[in-house]
Amino acid sequence: MGVESLADVLFSGFDVRLTRVTEAAEGLVVDAVECGPPPHCPGCNSLASRVHSSYERGLAGLPVNGQSLTVRLRVRRFFCDRGRCPRRTFVEQVAKLSERYGRSSLGLKQWQHAVAVELGGRPGQRLCRQLRLKAGRTRLLGLLTEPAVPEQAPRVLGPGAHP
Ligand SMILES: [Zn+2]
Repeated sequence: MGVESLADVLFSGFDVRLTRVTEAAEGLVVDAVECGPPPHCPGCNSLASRVHSSYERGLAGLPVNGQSLTVRLRVRRFFCDRGRCPRRTFVEQVAKLSERYGRSSLGLKQWQHAVAVELGGRPGQRLCRQLRLKAGRTRLLGLLTEPAVPEQAPRVLGPGAHP
């Protein structure tokens, strides 16, 4: 199976469209564009409709065929048009793939977390290097103390809140 069809299979469950797959010296690089439905604002949960801008972010993914994987993901920033919402704009996330501020895919983060729980910092870092998982000691230890991030912001209740 060629790398392009392999990447198609790997990303088939996500709301992304692959635009390019490159075999670079440092591993596989996949360019992808978020193509899911308009997201809900994490501040007030209302549906966004106006795109503010878009930009590319890098995500380290799980290795493929023994090669490390980098996803260059183009995401959109949306306006929140709800007057009383504190968030003026926000960036969409790809379900099951990305999270706010995260530089690892959620799949990679799960693996890193499992390694951190079993081995801790330095031994975990050595194993990750052998497995071609991007994870430094500080990252692994940080995962052990990081609070769980809810999938979606809690709904704001009160007068004027959307149902
Ligand atoms: Zn909002």
